[in-house]
Amino acid sequence: MPAECTWNAKTGELSFKFSGEQKEIFAQIAEFQDVFNNTECGVCGGDQIRFVVRGAKTKQGKDVEYYELRCVERNDDGSLSCRARLSFGQSLDLKTIFPKRKDDEGGYLPNNGWTVYQSPTEAAPPPPRRQEPAPKGFGGFNSPPAQPARSAGGGPPPHAPIEDETGF
Ligand SMILES: [Zn+2]
Repeated sequence: MPAECTWNAKTGELSFKFSGEQKEIFAQIAEFQDVFNNTECGVCGGDQIRFVVRGAKTKQGKDVEYYELRCVERNDDGSLSCRARLSFGQSLDLKTIFPKRKDDEGGYLPNNGWTVYQSPTEAAPPPPRRQEPAPKGFGGFNSPPAQPARSAGGGPPPHAPIEDETGF
C-alpha cells in the first residue's frame, strides 16, 4: 500500500503517513520499520547514513538494482572513515525490500548486517616482498661466495647438470 513520506534533507529525518484500518496500519509499519529505521551504522554507530540504489547486470545480462545504506561518516580530512554498508534483499515479486541481516547459511551477521566491503581493486596491494640486496665488494671472480645464495623456493638447482662427456 502506498505511503506518504517526508524527508528532511538537512537532518535526514524521515516521516511516513499511513492510512487504513488498524491491522493495515500495523502491517504497513511492520513493512517500513525494518527498512527505514536503520538510522545508525551498525559498525561505527555514526548517523551519517546515505541511501544508495545502484544498477548492475547479472551474468545473464539481466538488469538488477541493488538497494543499500552506506555509512558516510568522515574523518577530519574529509575521507570516509567507515564505509560500512547494509544490503537489502528483495521479495520475489520485487515489490518490497528487507535488510539482509543473515548470511547464506542463515546465521545472523555481526553488526546487525552492516559490513565493511572491500573490493579487490580498492584493497591495498600487499607490500612488495623485501629483497635482500646482493652483497657487494666481497669475493673475486674465482673465490667462492661468502654465503650460499638463498634459494627462493627450495626447488631443484636452476641448471640441470650437463652430461659430462669429457671422459679420460
Ligand atoms: Zn559506520
